Amino acid sequence: MLSIRPIPLLADNYGWLLQDETGFTAFVDPAEEGPTAAAIEAAGGRLDMILLTHHHADHVAGADALRARFGAKVAGNVADAHRLPRLDQPVRPGGRLEVGRNAAEVIDTPGHTRGHIAYFFASGPVALVGDTIFSLGCGRLIEGTAEEMFASLRRLAALPGESLVCCGHEYTLANARFALSLRPDDAALKRRAEEAKRSRASGEPTVPTRLEEECRLNPFLVAPNAAEFARIRALKDRF
Ligand code: ZN
Ligand code: FE
Repeated sequence: MLSIRPIPLLADNYGWLLQDETGFTAFVDPAEEGPTAAAIEAAGGRLDMILLTHHHADHVAGADALRARFGAKVAGNVADAHRLPRLDQPVRPGGRLEVGRNAAEVIDTPGHTRGHIAYFFASGPVALVGDTIFSLGCGRLIEGTAEEMFASLRRLAALPGESLVCCGHEYTLANARFALSLRPDDAALKRRAEEAKRSRASGEPTVPTRLEEECRLNPFLVAPNAAEFARIRALKDRF
């Protein structure tokens, strides 16, 4: 069994703490050292691996210090090795990564950045998607085209519907406002927005969500083609 939970970092980032039944521990996207190390100490004080989704500082800044402190091996996309922290386990999109007893498929998800990757554990099923999908939203197109990002979203949407979607930020309330501006009468969307409000009011994360729910409610996953995706992305950029 793979257990996974979000660790709030910086203002609105999430790192993800993964542990199997043997105590093998991995951490995805350590934005900063202090709160990440505190979460690891509370979970048994062991950190075997660090998984990176993309090179932005709010996903990697704690990696070097955590490697030194816990002896963790750092995994990330070899294509971005020049701008990631030092990689002990370079991975390639389309490849696999052993994470203790579990294995992750490395999925190519360019769009937010050129070298962005996601990690999918079929044994969860769990998808660690970085800044590609957020609950009810998607990452901004900083280095990629709408076509690339749309293709990345379709690749993730093809994973099993029950997969937990573990994203890099707590953006759900703002994303819900935008999604409701497109579909103001969507009852399921309204319910999701209310649920997210209650979670935030009690200090709880709104993620992870299930992929099948995102495929129904997330406007960027509902978009039927790249042109419609591009139109909605442009609207969101100005929202
Ligand atoms: Zn980013
Ligand atoms: Fe980010």
